[in-house]
Amino acid sequence: MAWQENVRTVTPYTAGEQPKRRDIIKLNTNECPYPPAPGVSKALAELSADDFRLYPDPDCTALVSCLADYYGLPCEQVFVGVGSDDVLALAFLTFFNSKKPILFPDITYSFYDVWAELYRIPYQKIPLDGNFQMVKEDYLVKNGGIIFPNPNAPTGVFEDLDVVEFIVGKNSGSVVIVDEAYIDFGGTSALSLASKYDNLLIVQTFSKSRAMAGMRIGYAMGNQKLIKYLSDAKFATNSYTMNRTALSLGAAAVLDDDYFKKTTAKIINTRAWFEKELDRLGFIYPKSDGNFIFVTHPRLSGAELFTALSERGIYVRHWNKPRICEYLRITIGTDEEMRALTAFLDAYV
Ligand SMILES: *Cc1c(COP(=O)(O)O)cnc(C)c1O
Repeated sequence: MAWQENVRTVTPYTAGEQPKRRDIIKLNTNECPYPPAPGVSKALAELSADDFRLYPDPDCTALVSCLADYYGLPCEQVFVGVGSDDVLALAFLTFFNSKKPILFPDITYSFYDVWAELYRIPYQKIPLDGNFQMVKEDYLVKNGGIIFPNPNAPTGVFEDLDVVEFIVGKNSGSVVIVDEAYIDFGGTSALSLASKYDNLLIVQTFSKSRAMAGMRIGYAMGNQKLIKYLSDAKFATNSYTMNRTALSLGAAAVLDDDYFKKTTAKIINTRAWFEKELDRLGFIYPKSDGNFIFVTHPRLSGAELFTALSERGIYVRHWNKPRICEYLRITIGTDEEMRALTAFLDAYV
């Protein structure tokens, strides 16, 4: 059809499966295996459908001020959106506006090239080394922006803050986005660098460590100019991205810090236990600072193990891509789920 010539076509991102069945062990999308903080249920009970008549606060003040207090920032340095995917997509649109390519690792969150394609942003993938680590000197080429997750996904590898600082400091002409979706599971946030570098944008999410993937809350922190530009772009597309429920439940989650610390510590403990089991079974994996582990086995095919696990009702993630097709990314679930997985692997190996 003639009109198709003028369509902005794109190959979409493929998210991990969300099976309808409940009787499976779901370790494929890095959700938290524990419920959100008790304060979230309480805040939910206090909501009234009557309030839905009115638009939500376009400035998202309740949630922004909660996050600002939590991280010790002024509100002008915090931006919230509908999951970090929304925040990241808007950040691509806002900050990656050069003819020079943006840079990101060759093995990384597979949404980055989708957004780049959608917005017609040129990009260049920078190979990780043999240990799945970033080679910081490779980020000194001319570019229109840089983005990487830290810890990286799907590898779980955390880059020390001096690597982050090197890349941010040497690229003062570009915005550098650090996607910290998994920062609460052992890494150190680059937030401490935000006061020193006005080109650093940090993006985090409620979807993993705060057990609220279904509520869709993400946020960015950085220099107040960066936040203002993001906010201008938001008010140029949709002033009311965050609904009333997300705004109040998000704030309730941030206030319940004890629960947050307890659940993230539990996941870190389970990860340590699971690592020992993986060692015993002969699996190889880079040290993970995320709520998942990226595993391979010298004698097993990644694709075959993936299928065998699926047939047993254990869902993990596998990519048919160069360099990583022998690997599986396994989310850290409850102790019970990880014991069931380990029992299966024991028999399979
Ligand atoms: C999960 C994830 C996100 C997106 O999470 P939201 O649910 O949209 O907040 C962003 N970046 C990485 C690296 C992720 O793994």
